[in-house]
Amino acid sequence: MDWQRLHKALTVEAESGFSDLQGREYRFSEFLTITLGQTPRSLTGADKQRWMAIAQDFSYYANLSSVQRQHLVTETKRFLIQIEQQITGIAPTISSPPLVVRETKTTTTKSPIKVAQPAAKSSAYISIPQLPQALKDISTIGIKKSQDLAKLGLYTVRDLLYYYPRSHIDYSKQVKINQLQEGETVTLVGTVKRCSCFSSPRNKKLTILEIIIKDSTGQLKISRFFAGNRYGSGWQHQQQRRYGEGTIIAACGLVKRNKYGITLENPELEVLAAAGATIESLKIGRLLPVYPLVDGVGADVVRQAVVEILPVTQKMPDSLPETIRKQYDLIPVNQALNQLHFPDNADSLARARRRLIFDEFFYLQLGFLQRRSKIVATETSAILSPQGYLIENFYEQLPFSLTNAQQRVIREIISDLQKSTPMNRLIQGDVGAGKTVVAVVAILAAIQSGYQAALMAPTEVLAEQHYRKLVTWFNLLHLPVELLTGSTKIAKRRKIHAELETGEIPLLVGTHALIQDKVNFAKLGLVVIDEQHRFGVGQRAKLQQKGDAPHVLTMTATPIPRTLALTIHGDLDVSQIDELPPGRKEIQTTVLDSKDRQQAYDLIRREVAQGRQVYIVLPLIEESEKLDLRSAIEEHQHLSESVFSQFSVGLLHGRMSSPEKDEVLTKFRDNQVQIIVSTTVIEVGVDVPNATVMLIENAERFGLSQLHQLRGRVGRGSQQSYCLLMSGSKADNAKQRLSVLAQSQDGFFISEMDMRFRGPGEVLGSRQSGLADFALASLVEDQDVLLLARDAAEKIMLADSSLESLPLIKQELSDRYQKLMGGAILT
Ligand code: ADP
Ligand code: MG
Repeated sequence: MDWQRLHKALTVEAESGFSDLQGREYRFSEFLTITLGQTPRSLTGADKQRWMAIAQDFSYYANLSSVQRQHLVTETKRFLIQIEQQITGIAPTISSPPLVVRETKTTTTKSPIKVAQPAAKSSAYISIPQLPQALKDISTIGIKKSQDLAKLGLYTVRDLLYYYPRSHIDYSKQVKINQLQEGETVTLVGTVKRCSCFSSPRNKKLTILEIIIKDSTGQLKISRFFAGNRYGSGWQHQQQRRYGEGTIIAACGLVKRNKYGITLENPELEVLAAAGATIESLKIGRLLPVYPLVDGVGADVVRQAVVEILPVTQKMPDSLPETIRKQYDLIPVNQALNQLHFPDNADSLARARRRLIFDEFFYLQLGFLQRRSKIVATETSAILSPQGYLIENFYEQLPFSLTNAQQRVIREIISDLQKSTPMNRLIQGDVGAGKTVVAVVAILAAIQSGYQAALMAPTEVLAEQHYRKLVTWFNLLHLPVELLTGSTKIAKRRKIHAELETGEIPLLVGTHALIQDKVNFAKLGLVVIDEQHRFGVGQRAKLQQKGDAPHVLTMTATPIPRTLALTIHGDLDVSQIDELPPGRKEIQTTVLDSKDRQQAYDLIRREVAQGRQVYIVLPLIEESEKLDLRSAIEEHQHLSESVFSQFSVGLLHGRMSSPEKDEVLTKFRDNQVQIIVSTTVIEVGVDVPNATVMLIENAERFGLSQLHQLRGRVGRGSQQSYCLLMSGSKADNAKQRLSVLAQSQDGFFISEMDMRFRGPGEVLGSRQSGLADFALASLVEDQDVLLLARDAAEKIMLADSSLESLPLIKQELSDRYQKLMGGAILT
């Protein structure tokens, strides 16, 4: 039984608000059901019954209410602690083993593992080994409050110490209602005159809390909005009770002016005292932490408990050596923790945040680098040589010269291939940057060194396109290459299987068909994966397992910002082809709205009249595929029957079978179809140089990077091309966002802007599963700290990759790493 992992899963789930977190492979509830499905053999009687009952409960988890989930998770955690103690005879340390305290002179305990001290009478007695101590054993917190804290997923002193406030209420900037100045962040203290909480009449999923607050100078209406189903009528009543008439509350937020007058934008609210009472002095004139809470746990319970345990930090050793702290200008960790919870002022809060954000990034990067160094230490790959007739011939045949960026990336790859440790490199580069050529050089290095290579693409269209291009090149080199997809005929498939096993086929191109069991290579030395983010981790691994630690080259035409790349695949090496081959014309990009539609259609007519071709792309309207389909079909009918009746208009969508898609695309390629109406399936890989117009409907619903990808379908020939972004939204923000595309053709810049507008999670979209879960850090705001932290982690690895000489860092890494990886641990 992996107790540690079970506890981590439970803790992470609690921290996620009992959302039944999706891991890479399993949901939280599935993971628990599966893991608890194996009852430890030594369990008997009532314990065994209980264990099995809990396992069963988790299979219903998805149907439980939030409160029931919370209850089940808390109970399970408690039960597991008890069982683990029985079985192993050791008191579990829950989410964190104790910090090693060798470096602290003042410690009285000899063994760092020993935590069984008598419960402290007062917080002043808590010493470092008590970080893993259960909160319930701390007398000043006690059973009752510790139960409340458990509802927040907080079980140990360490849990609480690292339970960061969501924000702070700044009581030092307290003003009266008649002094409100637009643009300032302030705190108001006043009495509730009226409170109402209700579902928005226009949107059932939106709940509005409206409070009229008054002080000696006037009154003000403030509103907060809550989206989601959790805020039903029960919750609404509770809010009305909480902010009942006469309650003294504080409201903190940015002063804004809207059409109804001046107000606070989405303010933090806090009940200071019941009607008629006076305010506690603790809260006046300072920055007070605001913690994420759940129903039934009051803000003051957490604050008081934090006050109780903060003295622990006095003797807390800093895991970062002083040299590193100095170099990166970081304050000591204990100071940072104190100031983050109860800052002296805004400046010390900022310094505290910076230190703790650094730690979040640092341990993630160190984790990545450790993971890579472990793989590198255990696996041996073929050494693939760049010297040989194939690469020489290829360069001679190539009708163009490589760009500087291509040459640089080829050098990076070649240097990887000549090592006996497996390459794991990602090439990022815009559509048309020439990634395939670069991949071919790697493939030829494998072949001329006596190995086979495989190239896997996410769709048949894309696989076939690669195949077609590669066949031309490989014919010139007198090398066979085969294509294997879901549509490959049985006889052909068998032949391919056989010839792969004898090694007669040096390169196999294909789709997921490549990872089927029957596909066996004689000597697979290199794996190339195109549009790698469209494959799951498991799929990629499966292809790799067909060889003996083959080198892996992955490619993507949707570059993501370097900082984001570091965060989701910090264990990869990343190469960027940030230069397009010469002679490409800029694609003239215009943002239009519906009143300009005629203009767009005129341009399309003009281009088609000149023999060119056009894509019209429709966005995902809803999550429902059916609706998308309908909109595509309807739009196609409308355009082909009325607007463009004189032309041949084709339709392409995800529900069509491969042969159907192929038929349309072939006709389009042969210019029998001039206009193609498509859902986003067109996004990858279609290459028709004669197409010059890309019209995208409801462009505001796409991410910028995706739009840029789509735009890459045109501009592939010698003609001037156009991209028309039809915006269905009047919002300034939408237009401003789209205008980035009108101004830039640089995928790296565009992805950076995309992240600023939409946030990292959205930019990653379906790739999100690997995104680390930071408590404080923001990938947009804190990029500079991330780069410093990466730098520091690399230095540490160079100095001592085993971390043996840095036991505190090693310990901290193991405490944090899995949590940072978020849902990924549930796999
Ligand atoms: P990507 O896979 O990055 O989208 P490709 O490798 O398919 O790009 O290249 C796009 C097109 O540009 C192909 O037709 C390719 O032959 C051509 N190409 C690649 N590199 C160069 C170069 N250095 N100069 C001119 N054309 C190039
Ligand atoms: Mg390509």
